[in-house]
Amino acid sequence: MIYFVGAGPGAVDLITIKGQKLLSVADVVIYAGSLVNPELLNYTKNGCEIHNSAHMTLEEVIDKIKKAEAENKMTVRLHTGDPSIYGAIREQIDLLKELNIEYQVVPGVSSFCGAAAAIGAEYTLPDVSQTVIITRMEGRTPVPERENIKSLAAHKSSMVLFLSSSLAEELSKELIAGGYELETPVAVIYKATWPDEKVFRCTIETLPNTMKINKINKTALILVGNFLGNEYKRSELYNPAFTHEFRKAENE
Ligand code: SAH
Repeated sequence: MIYFVGAGPGAVDLITIKGQKLLSVADVVIYAGSLVNPELLNYTKNGCEIHNSAHMTLEEVIDKIKKAEAENKMTVRLHTGDPSIYGAIREQIDLLKELNIEYQVVPGVSSFCGAAAAIGAEYTLPDVSQTVIITRMEGRTPVPERENIKSLAAHKSSMVLFLSSSLAEELSKELIAGGYELETPVAVIYKATWPDEKVFRCTIETLPNTMKINKINKTALILVGNFLGNEYKRSELYNPAFTHEFRKAENE
């Protein structure tokens, strides 16, 4: 059996209990070494075989899993954040299916949640935005043309940019071309939930300079939108005048 486990955004205690339990009994762990906190490996048992996938190809990862399966060993494939976001798990799963190897996915706290927590932000503020767009700038990995930043920016929803911290200049231009005002608030969260987490507040206009001055070009999320501003409406859920399934309005 192979478990794809979300390691969480960085802090060692942000892995799920299920994920930690699986790590502690795994015979083999293959972890995404570029981003997974290596301290999580302290949860593994003595004699656990550990591989860092940062140096491996998809085929090499599958070979390790295949070998472990043949020896009746349990493997944890540890991915940063939640495996469903830029985790490249689908290609692994499809190869495992061909090999009739059983798998299960254990979710994790994605870094976009860790980043919001770092600044106490809510992406879905009433009257501001009820939509979160998770995307990335096109780099060496292509993004479908219909999802270019300019067209996504036109929605003026809350936006989370993964894998884009080295492309801030272009990103800023695209956001503005899409219709965002120059002064739209931006928060850059570097290594959210890690001990050396850093937060930078700026605007779309000042983003490139903020990234340059602070030398941020990786392991950061760029959050964009008016959910980072000061204006919003109260929720209906906790409004005394609003009745719902669990609570009657005060005046009814
Ligand atoms: N599956 C992961 C994302 C992997 S893609 C998740 O759910 O978070 C790798 C990108 O995620 C990085 O380039 C960076 O943009 C972002 N990232 C991962 N961990 C981060 C963290 N702790 N703080 C800020 N950004 C992070």
